Amino acid sequence: MARYTGPDCKRCRREKVKLYLKGSKCDSAKCPMENRPYPPGQHGRGRTKDSEYLLQKREKQKAARIYGILERQFHGYYEEANRRQGKTGENLLRILESRLDNVVYRSGFSKSRDMARQFVRHGHITVNGHKVDIPSFRVSPNDIIEVRASSRELTPFVIAVAEAGERTVPAWLEVIPGKLRVLVHALPTRAVIDTQVNEQLIVELYSK
Ligand code: SF4
Repeated sequence: MARYTGPDCKRCRREKVKLYLKGSKCDSAKCPMENRPYPPGQHGRGRTKDSEYLLQKREKQKAARIYGILERQFHGYYEEANRRQGKTGENLLRILESRLDNVVYRSGFSKSRDMARQFVRHGHITVNGHKVDIPSFRVSPNDIIEVRASSRELTPFVIAVAEAGERTVPAWLEVIPGKLRVLVHALPTRAVIDTQVNEQLIVELYSK
């Protein structure tokens, strides 16, 4: 599947906000947003007056970049969210949050969603006892996500166990660190989704 392979930090600078795409570097002084918090390029520091459309477009880009999704798939998620009952913006975020790569990341098993995506693709993750190597797979309530028994001695997972508790796990997931296991209690409501995305701007963009 196609995916963005350019420099991650430029994406943060473009959105003028930390998107936390690089794991531990994001919380360190090495994060370029600490001393260059403006868009890259010659005119990055120029004053631009953002139009309403630009703000909406940037918000959509920001969400797609946080979750590591390309335009076409993101638009597909929006259409699905729009067909569902309830608020479209909240539905959209719930769909994004329920992706398997996001759940692995939220559970603290990886430092970034990119890393989580790799773990899934490389077959280290099971859902209800079956290997699932599709990062966009959607989890459901009562699903049990685990690191495969044969992968638990790999360094990233040993570190994840050692660092368990350092990252706040959202209430809709329950992590059993010693077993590298996650229980999905329910899909999240907007109130418990910790994200910098203003989903209403995305809905406004797509409903034009
Ligand atoms: Fe963004 Fe992380 Fe790079 Fe900082 S280190 S610019 S938060 S990806």
